Amino acid sequence: MKRVSLVLSASIFFMSCNQQGSEPKVATEEVMNKDSHDNFQWETEQFADLRILRYQIEGWDNLSLKQKELVYYLTQAGLSGRDITWDQYYRHNLEIRNALEAIVKNYNGDKESEDWKNFMTYTKRVWFSNGIHHHYSNAKMKPGFEKAYFEQLLSESNTSLSAEATDVLFNDKDMKKVSKDSDQDLLLASAVNFYDPDITEEEAIAFYKKQIDPNTKTPISYGLNSKLVRAEDGSIKEVKWSAEGMYGSAITEIIGWLEKAQGVAENEAQGKALGILIDYYKTGDLKKWDEYNIAWVEATEGDIDYINSFIEVYDDPLGYKATYETVVQIKDFDASKKMAVISDNIQYFEDNSPIMNEHKKPNVKGVTYKMVNVAGEAGATTPSTPIGVNLPNANWIRAEHGSKSVSLANIEHAYEEAKGAGFLEEFTFTKEELERAKKYAGNSSKMHTALHEVVGHASGKLNDGVGTPKETLRNYASTLEEGRADLVALYYIMDPKLMEMGLIDTMEVGKAEYDNYIRNGLMLQLRRLEVGEIIEEDHMRNRQLVAKWAYETGKEDNIIEKKTLDGKTYFVINDYDKLREIFGDQLREIQRIKSEGDYEAGKKLVETYGVQVDPAIHKEVLARTEKLHIAPYNGFIQPELKPVMEGDSITDIEVNYPTDFTQQMLMYGEKYSFLK
Ligand SMILES: [Zn+2]
Repeated sequence: MKRVSLVLSASIFFMSCNQQGSEPKVATEEVMNKDSHDNFQWETEQFADLRILRYQIEGWDNLSLKQKELVYYLTQAGLSGRDITWDQYYRHNLEIRNALEAIVKNYNGDKESEDWKNFMTYTKRVWFSNGIHHHYSNAKMKPGFEKAYFEQLLSESNTSLSAEATDVLFNDKDMKKVSKDSDQDLLLASAVNFYDPDITEEEAIAFYKKQIDPNTKTPISYGLNSKLVRAEDGSIKEVKWSAEGMYGSAITEIIGWLEKAQGVAENEAQGKALGILIDYYKTGDLKKWDEYNIAWVEATEGDIDYINSFIEVYDDPLGYKATYETVVQIKDFDASKKMAVISDNIQYFEDNSPIMNEHKKPNVKGVTYKMVNVAGEAGATTPSTPIGVNLPNANWIRAEHGSKSVSLANIEHAYEEAKGAGFLEEFTFTKEELERAKKYAGNSSKMHTALHEVVGHASGKLNDGVGTPKETLRNYASTLEEGRADLVALYYIMDPKLMEMGLIDTMEVGKAEYDNYIRNGLMLQLRRLEVGEIIEEDHMRNRQLVAKWAYETGKEDNIIEKKTLDGKTYFVINDYDKLREIFGDQLREIQRIKSEGDYEAGKKLVETYGVQVDPAIHKEVLARTEKLHIAPYNGFIQPELKPVMEGDSITDIEVNYPTDFTQQMLMYGEKYSFLK
């Protein structure tokens, strides 16, 4: 699994350590964008189990005209392939969507009825999922209206839909897009359109077994860009997705935009990679795909990057075939600047750390960490989006040529803002804390991430002769490592030296982070667990470990105080400087555990503070968050880029932030339907 996603705003978070992103990970520059920021509408609507959000393209004004053009061409390339994803997900998806859109545009009958409202909700759910199966559960979604009503809508809107496709909306066929139930034939039980409906698992596996060369160390990604179909004589063959093959009309559009992008590439390496991607789309040759990935991973200069192609194989129950997706990214200039300052001062952080002198590195090197801002997504990455990307997927390419790992900062920021108001008002105790969070949470989270990644994971050394944490601390290693990196960040975010370095303007930033960390670690994150569950996820464990241990340590001096008001619990920090000292002591101890490989001590800490849930607090958190009625799945309206023309030449590219999901979906349907 290379794509990091926030599948449920209220529940699971898949994260590798690097993409620590974590719970309160906001990442934007409050100061930079103050005005537009305060008034920006982060959430537009909720329906069924879905919530529609918006994000801002941060850093847009830092781009040159040529760079803006590059971003524009790449987003257009992305959108040109949008229909491929729909067709891949299910063979009837496009005709169903066309019928639904025709009804939305043409129907002039009663729009106040329950039936019509249910029809609109269903249509929006289909848009959200790029098809009739739920984007997350993969189950076919049930319309909230009868077949007769639907047929009436079709006829009154002067449109039609085949009987087979109409039936499928209401019957019990093709119930799962992707089935992972190994008691059944995985292909026959899955509706996804990567294989003709009558091709069995056994046949497909046999087909690829014949192709796969077991002796090569550099295998191509067999079957990645093709559909398996049954020929007239009953045999099975591959139909490639390429300019000359299946999806050719959409792929030709993609190529046209990629060629324009290549013309304004920022540097030679980026242009070269785009050229190979174009060749790959033209030929469908999987050797070219590998060649492209190597060129792409080696193109590290420049401010713009992108993903565009058939990438992830989650939607194929057999894991061969990849879904079309694109993300266009701009470097997070602000975060990069901050991280550069931290890197330049990295030895200061090591020398002044509260860890024991013998555990300090004489020459510490900062860890590089990349944050980017999304400028546009299409295909499988939208409306529901990943929050980080780590590619390419081929293991041998990763081993020999490396990989690119980024977190999508403005997406995380939008999640945080959209969650913001309700959660903060519910869980902050004083007005001061609330205001501080509103004002500084963005900045403080970004500082925390930068310190955690650049300094935290780089700091400290093992004693001579001690094995790696994976060997010594085993199953507790990553919880303790994340806790250690968090503590480095917490310790330094209250260091006045950060102001001297120009990283923050006020110590309120540090206080906001302390409030947030304690609020989250002791309460808020518990909303992701169901009643009776214990904490399993490493980041959740480390956050409770740090917060609860600090609370217990400072209890006698009332450093963090547990308060109750109107039956609601709050944890309030009374002394920030003392809390910083406690964090320093914790850091020293966890570093000692790592440096010495002290398994027993590590185990005791995690088991004592990080695993068990206080059932009363947990129940209370669930009740208080449920009252806020926040739908569990989020998706985004995309910003729209529009060239400003003077004659034939582009003089600027404007960014618009539409607010109406339905309008954007209808516009996409009109402008980017290349698979008619
Ligand atoms: Zn980490």
